[in-house]
Amino acid sequence: MIILKDLTKVFELNKNNKTVAVNSVNLEIKESELIVLKGASGSGKSTILSLIAGLSKPTTGEVVIGENRVSKLPDNFASLFRRENIGFIFQKYNLIPTLSVSENILVPLIPQNPSNLEAKEILKRVMKKFKIEHKKDEIVKNLSGGEQQRVAIARSQVNNPNIIIADEPTANLDKELSLHFIEILRELKNDGKTIIVATHDPLFFDLDFVDRVIEVSNGEIL
Ligand code: ADP
Ligand code: ADP
Repeated sequence: MIILKDLTKVFELNKNNKTVAVNSVNLEIKESELIVLKGASGSGKSTILSLIAGLSKPTTGEVVIGENRVSKLPDNFASLFRRENIGFIFQKYNLIPTLSVSENILVPLIPQNPSNLEAKEILKRVMKKFKIEHKKDEIVKNLSGGEQQRVAIARSQVNNPNIIIADEPTANLDKELSLHFIEILRELKNDGKTIIVATHDPLFFDLDFVDRVIEVSNGEIL
């Protein structure tokens, strides 16, 4: 269970210039739920995601995931918690363009220093699952947008996280690839993952396997 308790984030640029990016948000997300946060650009979706992941600290309120008071964790514990529990999928993939597909997918494993055998097994599992095995030695910058998306998704799954956070995942994809992404999302949902997608792409608004579409406006949940 993910609980957002009276969550507020204020960005204070200077004394006269404040943005209330997230305003008193209360929300409970059950295990294995798939939530879509819908809202215009600037409505506060990304800020909510980074608060859930503990990437930024709330001004007031808190995020609790299972037994963990994520927003109260010191940075090193928060980053360990993320590594073990959360997979991120970004609009800009955040891949390293000059490295190969395999190398990119292995990046999140570096802190764990796995054996070659372990690394190979994990690589094989995620490349197969996300159908990118045939490109494993290709340099990422030479791949198409859809292939890069699959690499990014494969990378987000190496630690087999139970929570997946996707920020505008289809922003750079055409209709066909967006539909393909939605099929991957369906699979992840079937695997029992808890998934939170922030998007303004209407493709996500009436999918049969989405549990709730939640509208965000001016930092508030409508
Ligand atoms: P969305 O993801 O819905 O586009 P964001 O959460 O990115 O919205 O932004 C919500 C509001 O907070 C916007 O007004 C944005 O300009 C502001 N904001 C986001 N991040 C920062 C930051 N690091 N510093 C200052 N303002 C920010
Ligand atoms: P560390 O403090 O060990 O450098 P972070 O706290 O930055 O780690 O991130 C922990 C995990 O969260 C990473 O393994 C990564 O998967 C994910 N993560 C956080 N921020 C990003 C980002 N901007 N791009 C991709 N992954 C990220």
